[in-house]
Amino acid sequence: MLLPVGGGWLAAVLALGFCTAASADDVLFENVRIFDGKSAALSAPSNVLVKGNVIERISTAQIAVAGALRVAGNGRTLMPGLIDNHWHAMLARTTPAQAFGDVGFNNLVAGDEATDTLMRGFTTVRDVGGPVFGLKRAIDEGIVKGPRIYPSGAMITVTSGHGDFRQLTDLPRTIGGMLTRMEQLGGAMVADSPDEVRVRAREQLMQGASQVKLTAGGGVSSPFSPIDVTTFTEAELRAAVEAAENWGTYVVAHAFTPAAIRGAIAAGVKCIEHGFLMDEPTAKLIAEKGVWLSMQPLPEDLRLGFPVGSVQRAKADEVWPGIARSYELAKKYKIKTAWGTDVLFSRALAQQQGAILASLARWYTPAEALVMATSTNAELLALSGKRNPYPGKLGVVEQGALADLLLVDGNPLDNINLIADPANSFKIIMKDGVIYKNALTK
Ligand SMILES: [Zn+2]
Repeated sequence: MLLPVGGGWLAAVLALGFCTAASADDVLFENVRIFDGKSAALSAPSNVLVKGNVIERISTAQIAVAGALRVAGNGRTLMPGLIDNHWHAMLARTTPAQAFGDVGFNNLVAGDEATDTLMRGFTTVRDVGGPVFGLKRAIDEGIVKGPRIYPSGAMITVTSGHGDFRQLTDLPRTIGGMLTRMEQLGGAMVADSPDEVRVRAREQLMQGASQVKLTAGGGVSSPFSPIDVTTFTEAELRAAVEAAENWGTYVVAHAFTPAAIRGAIAAGVKCIEHGFLMDEPTAKLIAEKGVWLSMQPLPEDLRLGFPVGSVQRAKADEVWPGIARSYELAKKYKIKTAWGTDVLFSRALAQQQGAILASLARWYTPAEALVMATSTNAELLALSGKRNPYPGKLGVVEQGALADLLLVDGNPLDNINLIADPANSFKIIMKDGVIYKNALTK
């Protein structure tokens, strides 16, 4: 064992004493009732010690510790930080024009939005498309306050697929020629053969993607991508799956229709996004194969935001009724269901992130919804395997887990709408053992 030097040596000696020594950064939550991310009821009044970035000890007895910051919980709820598994950190608040325009401005907007995201109690997001690697690095290095980000990088699409935002005036493309603006920025990459898919998938992994995102079917917001089209061939999808699995991780695919979902599953995709037009046999298949279904209770405001008469509005009108039906099918067949929001291009909707989670109350109890947004979502994140940027346990309050914690004024298992009002409900927001909000010291 190496002997620590200087002050570290003194601390090591003290640590061998009778009472646990703590550094000034350690935090002791006293008299809190714990929602652990898994069970449907709160714990008995407990004390929780956070040492460094880890939950060190949980006990109903007093924890003797010197030097830690003591937080008087007064019976409030301590719960895991929330996880949004379908987020676009670079696209949530910006406008489409800004997203493909001024890069510097868009990064600053995304940085500010990342801070807001964390202040809503979301300590982790899985980013499923967008040039997010720089923002993730700035957050991890402490330059910008924001959530942990599981990045996909550019979403990979076919010509005219979901994510191809080119206009007809951009056609025809010169084969082997210049990249489009969208591709240069790393927002989306167009790939029309297995070899092209392989290159683009590996490029995302090279930049640090924790999973690879493809759009295996038409989408609502893309201008030239009909919903019924199953864009990629199975061989193309499989090329991405092989690249991802070679790196120890997985492919996540956007898909609405039974054909798109089935093609993705046949190619080895491990997580389907949306799935809103699935039929009963397809729901059964998803369950049988143990594939994840990542769904979003998309708000009605999002549909109404597309102008009447536009191609996007027509597609939204086709997809939206499927949302409720899909949640019912997911419950019926006990599909492994993750939760996310998919907010795009709207600061007002981004501010509704917690409210969108609370809207799951239409199909789930508050406990079921909160388990989904914490421990279940964390289970999906762990599929990133060796590409997991934050090894350690997320989404739970238990000894040894990473210390992403919310101190809630009230019991969200009784009243899930507390999650929709983070400014008032969340008295403390901690990520990785660091307190980013403390409304108790006022
Ligand atoms: Zn999305």
